[in-house]
Amino acid sequence: GGALEVYQEFVRLLKERGCPTSVELLFEGRETDAGAAYSGCHGFCQLGPLVRFEPKGIFYTQVTAADVPEIITTALDKNTVVERLLYQNPDGSKSLREEDVPFYRHQQRVVLAYCGLINPEDIREYFAIGGYQALADVLTRYTPEEVIDAVTRSGLRGRGGAGFPTGRKWAAARRAEGEPKYVVCNGDEGDPGAFMDRSVLEGDPHSVLEGMTIAAYAVGAGHGYIYVRAEYPLAVERLKIAIAQARQHRVLGQDIMGTGFNFDIEIFRGAGAFVCGESTALVRSLEGFRGMPKAMPRPRTTEEGIGGKPTLLNNVKSFAYVPQIITRGPEWFASMGTETSKGTAVFALTGKAKNTGLIEVPMGITLREIIFNIGGGTSTGQEFKAVQTGGPSGGCLPKELLDMPVDFDSLTSAGSMMGSGGMVVMDQDTCMVDVARYFLEFTVNESCGQCTPCRVGTYQMLKILEDITQGRGKPTDLSLLEDIGKAIIAGSICGLGQTAPNPVLSTLRYFRSEYEAHIGEKS
Ligand code: SF4
Repeated sequence: GGALEVYQEFVRLLKERGCPTSVELLFEGRETDAGAAYSGCHGFCQLGPLVRFEPKGIFYTQVTAADVPEIITTALDKNTVVERLLYQNPDGSKSLREEDVPFYRHQQRVVLAYCGLINPEDIREYFAIGGYQALADVLTRYTPEEVIDAVTRSGLRGRGGAGFPTGRKWAAARRAEGEPKYVVCNGDEGDPGAFMDRSVLEGDPHSVLEGMTIAAYAVGAGHGYIYVRAEYPLAVERLKIAIAQARQHRVLGQDIMGTGFNFDIEIFRGAGAFVCGESTALVRSLEGFRGMPKAMPRPRTTEEGIGGKPTLLNNVKSFAYVPQIITRGPEWFASMGTETSKGTAVFALTGKAKNTGLIEVPMGITLREIIFNIGGGTSTGQEFKAVQTGGPSGGCLPKELLDMPVDFDSLTSAGSMMGSGGMVVMDQDTCMVDVARYFLEFTVNESCGQCTPCRVGTYQMLKILEDITQGRGKPTDLSLLEDIGKAIIAGSICGLGQTAPNPVLSTLRYFRSEYEAHIGEKS
């Protein structure tokens, strides 16, 4: 997006002025010196590249390299700001600081708190914000059972989509018999329009490493893997740097912090198959086999994972929450969110929202607050029509549900799901049949093909949808779609197939008239 050029221009011009350009100066508090630092993503994709000018936190949007000389002279020589680069509110006023911009003001950032603040390639910056303090506390003051108890009391549920209670999973992995044990981080984020895990891995990789190491201590594992999606080369690069620095500073590897605890992490790059996000397919892929889910009934991964050994598998964000749960306390985490969904949720807000980007909100916030207060409504000026959550496994929710709280259970009961956190906003111009067809086409391509309902059923549903959108639809098609959809859900062996019909079934439930209009047009 041009951010690197902006950074390089800052460095060049500050050097010309004789200013040091290392961020260490900022941490050492030498306020008379100016420095340029780069960070992970601030989340407001729509208006990047972003620049924050400290110590006042002045927030500039859509900055180009050509703007940099003016920013520097305005700040250092005139002690004022470049008005034209400030965020403009809908009423024409300007927001001076990041915290004043509506996109950020309505958020509650926990797992994203340090993305956009620290340099992800310098472990010292992670130390400076208190990083690895939780690990130090755990290794010196907690028993493994106490760590699991803290995670359980926090109410954290897995952020990969299904929302399984994290503490229960950790307890099962600790109880499981067999050596060695493994900890695996699932970074195979594949939903169209979703980039939350990517942003955490790129912007704050040490929080994931620290969370994994705490988990390893809790369950008794000595080795871990981070399974990263093939399409995330920058995440891999930053993880490599983070792992090397963590080993160098003895917060990872042998004899961590001199406590005698050993745990090391390897990166494993996926090969681009969506189904490898499913736990048993991921494990098979890690073992070097083709990534195909195992049929039920099967032992849980916590009992039989890599090489048949106990394996704790959690999502990127689930691990990234853990250090803060330890340092700030499980009660703090449990104080956010709803009765059954604690903490915050991270969403990639995309589609026809005015403000697109990465957001973090307390569980239980309404769709309306997300789409209108943070997203700013639709970008087209057209009336809002629907929002799709949960990617290809999720569903489309109409405007009548705008006041529904966003949490694991409410979304599921409305026919959608939290998924990994994709949220696509649609306006009146969006054809809901097309949307359903798009997501179904995705799952047809990504089905591993080993079970018939998923392989054949999704393909047949797609053909019917194509007929409908191309004017060949029949009135009986709608009940046929529902019947096939239910059969796929009942007969598929993994989550991909079990949720694949959701986009079709939810649009049939809430936007049936659009299907009927397509069929009616033809007759
Ligand atoms: Fe493969 Fe689909 Fe069966 Fe899952 S449901 S195992 S993706 S064919």
